[in-house]
Amino acid sequence: MIKQKCIECGKEYNVDEIVYNCECGGLLEIVYDLENLEVSRETFKNREFGVWRYKEFLPVKDENKIISLKEGNTPLYRCKNLEEIFGVKELYVKHEGANPTGSFKDRGMTVGVSLANTLNIKSVGCASTGNTSASLAAYSAKAGMNCIVLLPEGKVALGKLAQAMFYGAKVLEVMGNFDYALEMVRELANKKYVYLLNSVNPFRLEGQKTIGFEIAEQLNWDVPDRVIVPVGNAGNISAIWKGFKEFYKTGLIDSLPKMTGIQAEGANPIVRAFKKGKEDIEPYPNPETVATAIRIGNPVNAKKALRAIYESKGYAEDVSDEEILNAQKLLARKEGIFVEPASASSIAGLKKLLEEGIIDKDEKIVCITTGHGLKDPDAAIRACEKPIKVKNIDDILKIISN
Ligand SMILES: *Cc1c(COP(=O)(O)O)cnc(C)c1O
Ligand SMILES: [Zn+2]
Repeated sequence: MIKQKCIECGKEYNVDEIVYNCECGGLLEIVYDLENLEVSRETFKNREFGVWRYKEFLPVKDENKIISLKEGNTPLYRCKNLEEIFGVKELYVKHEGANPTGSFKDRGMTVGVSLANTLNIKSVGCASTGNTSASLAAYSAKAGMNCIVLLPEGKVALGKLAQAMFYGAKVLEVMGNFDYALEMVRELANKKYVYLLNSVNPFRLEGQKTIGFEIAEQLNWDVPDRVIVPVGNAGNISAIWKGFKEFYKTGLIDSLPKMTGIQAEGANPIVRAFKKGKEDIEPYPNPETVATAIRIGNPVNAKKALRAIYESKGYAEDVSDEEILNAQKLLARKEGIFVEPASASSIAGLKKLLEEGIIDKDEKIVCITTGHGLKDPDAAIRACEKPIKVKNIDDILKIISN
């Protein structure tokens, strides 16, 4: 039996119960009867790639209810040029920007919206720094559901805003930051106006854990020593860890990676908690960073993320906006991978932790890049020199012969 289970008191809820937190206030997670799950590496072999390839580990069993845009199956790039620059032995980038709406949120939404579909939900909602709204708008459109998204005023990257609007969501700009927008949509959900699809919804994380599954399979079942993840609301790092643990418990893999979370200096409550050895965060007021996708001061999944980091003997570090923007450029110009600023924090974090001696040069490392570079064209253009205006062939020859 699949259940929703409180990570604090252990109370269980059925899958068809609409609860976002336990009555004790704790976060919920989805649990399976893994001991009785009969799977082997052969189980997946002849199936289509993507999130639903791993259906034994997912909570929606009625295939007719599944809303999918063929998410997942993102490339895992070996990055030889960065290996040489950083002096590290084996480095891969798992590029989640290659998902249908350009971020890993699609993995979560295919499961969350499909689950909502089994419950005959008609209206869904979320607060979002941008990508969650873009993704939910797309999946709810396909499912024929109404969609309301609450965005923090003036801080949403242009590409994401365009997506949410164009897929037909009702887009509201909240006068305040992400944390405030989340409070408001939670209230709407508690009053049952919408089904909430932020990552406090544990079904979202079930889709996102397939990042871990795919890494294992793409590396021929040879688990990396470390996975480095940009951290905002802290759902994704928790989800990826859950994925690896479930593959481990069912005997599909025989080791586990160190989960390493990276935040921006201006929005680093998890890093602060980690460095003090704490189990929970203190909210960080007025978060600020160029990496708008992780501009979050009060991450809802903080406890799950900190557990993942401690359990896996991982680490948490923060990086400056300058380090983020440098890493973003390096990844594009040395490996041909264009990601949004938040996504480059994993690369910036890798560089910093190598310099600090926390990460060993012999490790086999996977950095997750969470979203596509075209999501935030303003940030990209700001980081580059302006195109040079030319009138004729002489102008052009003058410039290229310099
Ligand atoms: C949502 C998002 C994050 C943060 O993920 P969390 O699960 O909230 O920690 C990081 N990068 C991008 C591009 C995102 O869209
Ligand atoms: Zn509880």
